[in-house]
Amino acid sequence: MKKIALVASLLAGLMAGVSPAANAQEVYWTTSGMFGPFNIQGLIPTYPTAKDITIPVSMWIIKHPTKGVVVFDTGNNVAVSDGKCKEYWSAGNCDFLKPSQKRSDVIDKQLEKVGLKVDDVKVVVSSHSHLDHAGNIGMFPKAVHVFQKKELYQGWWPEKFQGRETPGTFVMADLMAARNYTYYEIDGDYDLFGDGTVKIISTPGHTIGHQSMKVKLGSGNTLIITQDALWMQENADGYVAGLNYSVKDWSDSANKLKFMRDLEGAKLLFSHDAGQFATGGNKWHK
Ligand SMILES: [Zn+2]
Repeated sequence: MKKIALVASLLAGLMAGVSPAANAQEVYWTTSGMFGPFNIQGLIPTYPTAKDITIPVSMWIIKHPTKGVVVFDTGNNVAVSDGKCKEYWSAGNCDFLKPSQKRSDVIDKQLEKVGLKVDDVKVVVSSHSHLDHAGNIGMFPKAVHVFQKKELYQGWWPEKFQGRETPGTFVMADLMAARNYTYYEIDGDYDLFGDGTVKIISTPGHTIGHQSMKVKLGSGNTLIITQDALWMQENADGYVAGLNYSVKDWSDSANKLKFMRDLEGAKLLFSHDAGQFATGGNKWHK
């Protein structure tokens, strides 16, 4: 009897070691300070009424039980902290966005808050190369950096209407700081660890090579982290965002994410939604 019990417990141990690994991700949602307050119509010109919003600048820490730690977006550059915005970003972007970032809000400090270090991060995925999303890729020299290849091209040479002057919405110094790092330049959707747990979803439109992320949590629930494919609930409700590289691509990507939500029963989490962050931010999703 004892032997049978021992074998059974060994088997259970083996099973525990194998099966949950494919399905035990945790996601921590944090922010690189806040933007605002400003009128929502400055971002979403199709929104029918003026209202002031103060929004998060979302960054995500994903823990995979066997493959390691992933950071999805690195927020505003550290140089923007503590009221020094205009020393690094253009005055126009500082005046409109009104970043409140403190040094303690920056991604390296956010990792420390959850017991991790910059060098623990195996993969840095950037949704796109804008100033509030790829601002600190330079802090991760040891990581593999995952971008859509087209996005890197656009980051270095954006269309003039997207702001080619620098520092604009693409800040050359952010990209320059990481120019010689290791990049995995992808084209389309990609299963990051090959086990279906962390999937990169191509969602162009906001920029030419924007990408979102789908994470299967340990609970079995699925999160879709839209980043700027959908800034906030109002975009998901049908109000088209401004600042797009392509409105058609933006609409196709918005629909793609909303069909995933509806068909898979996934939850959409947005990059810049104050209400969602107030309830879901600064905590682990398991
Ligand atoms: Zn953004």
